Amino acid sequence: MPEKNNKNLNDDAAIVAPANFNACDGGEIEIETNDGLTMRKTSGKGKRGNTTISIIVNYCKGCELCVAFCPEHILEMDKEIVKVIDISKCTKCNMCEYLCPDFSISVE
Ligand code: SF4
Ligand code: SF4
Repeated sequence: MPEKNNKNLNDDAAIVAPANFNACDGGEIEIETNDGLTMRKTSGKGKRGNTTISIIVNYCKGCELCVAFCPEHILEMDKEIVKVIDISKCTKCNMCEYLCPDFSISVE
């Protein structure tokens, strides 16, 4: 279970992250915003350099479209929410982002 570290991003969000979080090795961080949204960010080196995949948990309805169409097969379902399993293979093609009907996933 992630440990709350009581840091503030700014006045609008708090960070919840595992104690061993490392943004360079594909680590995942969870951000809770004060408008009630939970965002999971996975960052690391992808095939086109530094990559961050963000998933707004509250918007993901688990339709699996992004999982089915990711050409690199790096997304999978974690119960009903999509998750990133290997960011090092991400090409930033943005296919997942274009296909998501709920604007839940984005890649930068
Ligand atoms: S940007 Fe492309 S390769 Fe990366 S997760 Fe999305 S669909 Fe897969
Ligand atoms: S396409 Fe969007 S709503 Fe569907 S599983 Fe992926 S992130 Fe969730």
